[in-house]
This record gives sequence, structure tokens and C-alpha cells, in this order.
Amino acid sequence: MSAIILDGTKIAHEIRGEAAAEARTMAAAGVRPGLAVVLVGHNPASEIYVRGKVKACEEVGVYSEKLTPPESVSTVELLAVIEDLNRRDDIDGILVQLPLPPQVDSKKVLLAVDPAKDVDGFHPMNVGFLSTQRPGLVPCTPAGVIEILKRSNIPIAGREAVVVGRSDIVGKPAAMLLLNANATVTVCHSKTHDLPVVCRRADILVAAIGRAGMITRDYVKPGAAVIDVGMNTVTDAVEFQRFFAGNAKREETFDKKGSTLIGDVHPEVAEVAGAITPVPGGVGPLTIAMLMFNTVKAAKMRRGSREAVLSH
Ligand code: NAP
Repeated sequence: MSAIILDGTKIAHEIRGEAAAEARTMAAAGVRPGLAVVLVGHNPASEIYVRGKVKACEEVGVYSEKLTPPESVSTVELLAVIEDLNRRDDIDGILVQLPLPPQVDSKKVLLAVDPAKDVDGFHPMNVGFLSTQRPGLVPCTPAGVIEILKRSNIPIAGREAVVVGRSDIVGKPAAMLLLNANATVTVCHSKTHDLPVVCRRADILVAAIGRAGMITRDYVKPGAAVIDVGMNTVTDAVEFQRFFAGNAKREETFDKKGSTLIGDVHPEVAEVAGAITPVPGGVGPLTIAMLMFNTVKAAKMRRGSREAVLSH
């Protein structure tokens, strides 16, 4: 048996289309949702992510503004930038690209973002809204995980869900969203005993670990839906062979670029699972799509749209 491949690129495209339609409706009423992205210094990976976010804004019809304080910025200076964005009416979403330089108190900066503009959903107030099922802004990657399941007609209510990883940005909110959707949820981490046994209970297995191909077929109940959040780069030829031997397309990419992307789930799992997200092209594209969704939602919520509140 071979798993159904859950096409994240297609689902993300749908969501971006829906956000664009909402943005057009708002524009007709004289409102253009706006996103400010704060990018400190010159981290090459962060610059790529921010470029992708700004491009998505252009496509969806969201106004975007990139602020680029220098690498040497202090906590106080960054707080002043955030305060200014909090006050501006044309800015609905504020995204502080992480990581911040070591001299900056990241927690203090994230706490300063107005929760109504916190499109990353990291502010403790939004974390509280999520856990108490009140309308708020939900972290983009976990929200994307749920969208993949829902839009692929994979039932959640009453099923066993196991989330491997308990980070504040992925594992915990993913677990909370699954619980809110009435799954029976187990959260695993590096201290969990007999991880393969626990994972094999899952009808829905979410891997958010950050370890290349760690989830092998032994961790997966036949027929389970496996959502792979992991994004790891393989550069070692031996490791590459362990995961992708005989995969001509991957070999071509690896030979050309000297690296390839792999999730936390071993490719062999596709032989056991009922459905699986690929890497790349699975959860990854959903993250930016949900950022667009959140920006439009923040714009509506800030203007008191009842519909936005109810569609949470
Ligand atoms: P993180 O903060 O490093 O958290 C990793 C979690 O995995 C921790 O809870 C850790 O447990 C757990 N873990 C580590 N080794 C383990 C092991 N051997 N057995 C069981 N659990 C283990 O990572 P993250 O930010 O959540 O990201 C997870 C992955 O998702 C990364 O590959 C990241 O690149 C990817 N990611 C992708 C997107 C996207 O857009 N697709 C977005 C965000 C993140 P402890 O808590 O006990 O240390």
C-alpha cells in the first residue's frame, strides 16, 4: 500500500486565493490589510523567509512594509519600533522575524506586539485565547497542519492524535488545535519513553522534532495520516543514500545542489501510512498562506467584523 500524498502547495494556493478574495472585498470598502515585517540584521535564511512573505503580500493584495533595524539594535530601540507599529492604523499585522541578535530580549519584544496585530500568534494573550477557545490569532504552521487535515477530509474528532515535539511555535499549539477539534491528544518530547509504541497509537501523527527522517515505519500505525512539519537539510552523501537511495529525482537535485530537504519522517513511511505530507511541498507552503489568512483576519477583527470573530 502506498500513502495518499497530501499536496500542501495546492492547499496553500487555495487559502491564498481565499485571502486575496477577502482582501479585494475589504479594498472595495476602502480598507487595505497591512503587514509590517521587522527583519533585524542580515541573517541569510531570515532574508529568504521575509522575501517570500513580502511576495505573498503582493500576490494577495496585502500592503507590506519591511523594517530593517541594524544587527546592533538594542531592546529599547526595537521596542520603540514595535510601539510605533502598534499605534499605526494602516498596519494590521506585525511580524518580528526570529531569531533576534543575542543582545535583544526577544521575549520582551514579542510581548510588546499588540495581541490584535500578533499575526504569528506567539503573544501569551493569543496562546490563552487558543487554549480557552476564544477568537484570536493562531500560530501559522500549526494552523496549516489543521487546514491540511480538514481540507483533505481526514477526520479529527474522536481520533487518536500524537504530536512529537512540544515547542511553543509548533508542537504545543498543534496539540491544542487538535484537542479543540476533539481529537484525543498525546504530546511527546525528548524524555518520552517508548516513543515508537506511543506513536503507533496515532491515527494522526504530527512530527515537529527537527531530526532528519527520525520517524521510521516502526513509529507508524498502518493507514495513519502522517503530517511532517520537519525541515532539515541533508548535505552528507552517506546520509542522503540512507534516505533517498534509488530516488532518481532526489539524486539529481542532490548532485546539482549538494543538499536536499528532508522532513522528520523517513521516506519509507509512505509505504505504511494512509496519507502523508511530502517535504518539500507539504506543511511548508501552508505557513505563509496562513500568515496571509491571519493578516486579513487581524484586519477584520480590528475593525470589529463579527464574521471574522465567528470564523475562528
Ligand atoms: P524545537 O523548538 O527544536 O522543538 C523540537 C521538539 O522536538 C522539542 O519539544 C524536543 O523535545 C523534541 N525532540 C527533539 N528530539 C527528540 C527525540 N529524539 N525524541 C522525541 N522528541 C524529540 O523545534 P520547532 O521549532 O518546533 O521545529 C520542529 C521542526 O519543524 C524543525 O525541523 C523546524 O525546521 C520545522 N519547522 C517547520 C516549519 C514550516 O514552515 N514547515 C515551521 C516551523 C518549524 P524537548 O522539548 O524535550 O527538548
